[in-house]
Amino acid sequence: MVIVMKPGSPEEMIQRIERKMVSLGCEVHRSQGENYCILGLVGDTTGVDRSQIEANEYVDKLLSVQHPFKLVSKHFHPQDTVIEVDGLKIGAGHMVVMAGPCSVESEEQLMTIARAVKEAGANMLRGGAFKPRTSPYSFQGMEEEGLKLLKQAKEETGMPIVTEVMGQDTFDLVEEYADVLQIGARNMQNFSLLKRCGKSNRPILLKRGLSATIEELLMSAEYILANGNPNVILCERGIRTFETYTRNTLDLSAVPMIKELSHLPIIIDPSHATGRWSMVEPLSKAAVAVGADGLMIEVHHQPERAFSDGGQSLKPQKFARLMKSIEELVALRNVACK
Ligand code: PEP
Ligand code: MN
Repeated sequence: MVIVMKPGSPEEMIQRIERKMVSLGCEVHRSQGENYCILGLVGDTTGVDRSQIEANEYVDKLLSVQHPFKLVSKHFHPQDTVIEVDGLKIGAGHMVVMAGPCSVESEEQLMTIARAVKEAGANMLRGGAFKPRTSPYSFQGMEEEGLKLLKQAKEETGMPIVTEVMGQDTFDLVEEYADVLQIGARNMQNFSLLKRCGKSNRPILLKRGLSATIEELLMSAEYILANGNPNVILCERGIRTFETYTRNTLDLSAVPMIKELSHLPIIIDPSHATGRWSMVEPLSKAAVAVGADGLMIEVHHQPERAFSDGGQSLKPQKFARLMKSIEELVALRNVACK
């Protein structure tokens, strides 16, 4: 349930309603804009007498939230969330590009790619040190050594780091190095891991599960917010369909749908969505056009030698071309949004 207060309601009255709701067993989340104040109620609202609240002269209206998610819902928080990472803004239409290799493989590999993507205009560096692989015999990542290399790349290029945390056992370690913690598609419904993310002071990049609905993605984000961390970036990275030419099917409709339902930023990962480097640029353009808040793109200087996901990785020169082509679209989009 959401209580919308009338503009200019006295603070004392708002607090009185908040106290009343807490005494009835609800948790109250206030969202304060310039011209509005909204009180979102979470928990058991069966004890709340609607007509009593509606009788208050400062209450504009009462809304019932039909969705199972609350804190991530736009009803609770009408303003888009903007997350700051080292001064970089993510959300509300600010366009961020996170680029880098699928896996950190060596100092030479990471530094070469980091310098190239920085030069081309990327804002953040991605790279996996702990890798979720389908086969236990595939490369599993450089682990802490990889995290140290990411830190070194950040020190040289200034780009903040986004890297995956795969489990509770390595959470504290990854948290120490990463600026943004990535929860991979396979872990989207690892609820104990999501609860741990809620206790973190790092923003979380939550990737959509392989066969997860938009509602399931938002419910997973709800876990993180409900456990105390408001800084979640959603990521559409393709879903399983009957199509086999592409690795997954990019659900572009997730962007405007999520923008309607939630205030959280949503970015697109066209690399994992398609599994094909040749499709990364056209779908990046589509992502910008459809209103995504950012892109996550895999880049490798020697994709044929990559330890993972070489087939979907762009060479630095192609990445630079992509950056140029989306720059023009972003400028157009910003004009159109004014
Ligand atoms: C990744 O970004 O490296 C990755 C493994 O992605 P996903 O979890 O979307 O498959
Ligand atoms: Mn990958």
